[in-house]
Amino acid sequence: MKLGYPNNPRKDVMKEIKWIAQHFDFIDFFMEPDRAYYNKIDLKEIRKRLHEYNLEIVGHTAYYLPFASPIEEIRLVAIEEASKCFKAFEKLGAEYVTVHANWPPSIFDAKEGLQMQIESLALLIEEAEKYNIKLMYESGVGELDNYTNVVKILQALPKLHFHLDIGHVSLYGRDACKFIRKLHAKIKHIHIHDNFGKEDLHLPIGVGKIKWRDVIKELKRYYDGTITLEIFADKDYVLLSKRKLEEMWREV
Ligand SMILES: [Zn+2]
Repeated sequence: MKLGYPNNPRKDVMKEIKWIAQHFDFIDFFMEPDRAYYNKIDLKEIRKRLHEYNLEIVGHTAYYLPFASPIEEIRLVAIEEASKCFKAFEKLGAEYVTVHANWPPSIFDAKEGLQMQIESLALLIEEAEKYNIKLMYESGVGELDNYTNVVKILQALPKLHFHLDIGHVSLYGRDACKFIRKLHAKIKHIHIHDNFGKEDLHLPIGVGKIKWRDVIKELKRYYDGTITLEIFADKDYVLLSKRKLEEMWREV
């Protein structure tokens, strides 16, 4: 098991990398505006720094890219932008990159939303392959981001991996352990953060209602890859969460 942390894309990338390297095995690189987008960063310098720090990298494109916009032209531009990120990620040495679920407004139904996503994801997979990148699908925070719909996406696109966000799959009474048990063969990356089951709060571990011991037990049974602590709180809470996670991983 390897632990990572994301850079805050609104902050200086080099400073973010330095702190992450002091405490984690890899960076979950959020390639987003305003300060960590592909056209705002020095790729060579970052790659050099990652190498110096011996810090591995997993890629993450902006969660708000409109891959399921009902306007086809907007979907295509979103794919084009993601492709530019893939190109940059290859230069940074990333092998796996996350794309986020996206749904059209509710005047379109789930079936139409799935179709729009599947069409976009098929094009995204093609783009990613040009840069030797493998794509991971991270399900989102809405009611439609349920087990059934995630399975439909993964079944339609065999080359797509699954990025399991424990916080997201614990919303709306969903069972994170079921996602782990049933989809472990597809899971390539994990995000960990806590909440109370209603809002996507990205809290430190143990602050919300997620039953972490059950989750970690299930994870340990099936998974030994990269885990990002996607906790948006002061750094001391992040480090405390890291300690708690390591402790639970040893004990369960
Ligand atoms: Zn996440």
